[in-house]
Amino acid sequence: MAIETTTAPTKARIRKGDTVVVLSGKERGKQGKVLQVMPSLSKVVVEKLNIIKRHTKPGKSNKGGIIEKEGSLALSKVMVVCPHCAKPARLGVAVLDGGRRMRRCKRCGEIVDKG
Ligand SMILES: [Zn+2]
Repeated sequence: MAIETTTAPTKARIRKGDTVVVLSGKERGKQGKVLQVMPSLSKVVVEKLNIIKRHTKPGKSNKGGIIEKEGSLALSKVMVVCPHCAKPARLGVAVLDGGRRMRRCKRCGEIVDKG
């Protein structure tokens, strides 16, 4: 199994499909699934969190009204929730036999990535 744990760039630790918890701001303590990661902006879009309402005027392609949409959150404000210990966890990188790199929960030591 895992032979060594190395440090990896923090930015790469959150991936699409991860469950994250919000650490600060108005959505603090809420959890959601990551829909999109924007590494260049250091931001993530999380399902049903940080909903922003946009008022749109009627146009050719829409009837106008209020559109609800997920807004982005700063990567530094969210933390991945470990599927094994169900707690917000810092992730390390474990290098498996054959050189595969998997993310590992530093709290319980389990591999977070599937497959
Ligand atoms: Zn864990």
